[in-house]
Amino acid sequence: MTHPLSRLLVLSLMLLAGQALAVEPVLVLHGGAGVEKAGLTPQDQAAARAAMESALRAGHAVLARGGSAVEAVAATITVLEDSPQFNAGKGAVFTHDGKNELDAAIMDGSTGNAGTVAGVHRIKNPIQLARTVMDRSKHVMLVGEGAERFAQEQGVSLVDPAYFRTDKRWKQLQKALKEEASGQAHADLETAKHFGTVGALALDTQGRLAAGTSTGGMTNKRYGRVGDSPIIGAGTYANSQCAVSGTGWGEYYIRAVAAYDICARMKYAGQSLDQAAEAVIDEQIPKAGGNGGAIALDAKGNVAFPFNTEGMYRGRIGGDGVPHVAIFKDETL
Ligand code: ASP
Repeated sequence: MTHPLSRLLVLSLMLLAGQALAVEPVLVLHGGAGVEKAGLTPQDQAAARAAMESALRAGHAVLARGGSAVEAVAATITVLEDSPQFNAGKGAVFTHDGKNELDAAIMDGSTGNAGTVAGVHRIKNPIQLARTVMDRSKHVMLVGEGAERFAQEQGVSLVDPAYFRTDKRWKQLQKALKEEASGQAHADLETAKHFGTVGALALDTQGRLAAGTSTGGMTNKRYGRVGDSPIIGAGTYANSQCAVSGTGWGEYYIRAVAAYDICARMKYAGQSLDQAAEAVIDEQIPKAGGNGGAIALDAKGNVAFPFNTEGMYRGRIGGDGVPHVAIFKDETL
């Protein structure tokens, strides 16, 4: 018969081993590139910083109780979607014909599963629907009416499309329409400044990575336009080593298969997270004529926040649970 004390010793050793194996959780987010100092009042800045902090806390709470990276990413993005400061959920930008059409994606790096939705206009939290597509359908991507029908079948509540409207975004559309009508040479570039997509990446205590992105797309986008955010590999990607969420001029991110390229450079070319993220965001995309930023996280907890616009809303939180946020270039995280 085993002595009770030796059983206690084995149990303590198992516990210690378990603790040693537990990974320190990390969560990072972005609230979009393309932020310009001139366009932001101190109140706007304070509101955006507060919203990012509460989103970081929401994600961290999931990780701290041993929840999964997927759950943490969804929790973080839900808070950002509900905050009108960002171009996702409430506060999304308007299409050319004055509607809000939302895109979102989530990917579980530990299983390779993914769920995405595009062109939805009655889903309060598109990231939750993307997760439901991943968990409860045989598919990866559902669009428009079909995605909303699936939402109804799954008991996801729908909202009136007017829910997403904010005056600030409406004014941005009117400005973009005027510029376009007057044939201003750089109307497209002007529009491209108004990003604001949101994204989050998490590394949980079991070492699993996940990535998610949610957006209203780009101001004045045409009928049915889908950007990079809900396209796996373009704006959102995660595997067991690396997770990425992009924000910027979506067409360029799609052509560059930007999020996947960052992870592929690490896997096949042995680049570090920093090198890979910078090569794609600060070299490849600008070389092709695009701009924007991204967040990237690897399985060792390294993070990268490259961007080539004046600012990018961004934040990180580690095991200590203290949120850190930044907006402009000169701020460190
Ligand atoms: N990447 C998004 C899109 O093109 C825009 C953004 O990042 O704000 O739809």
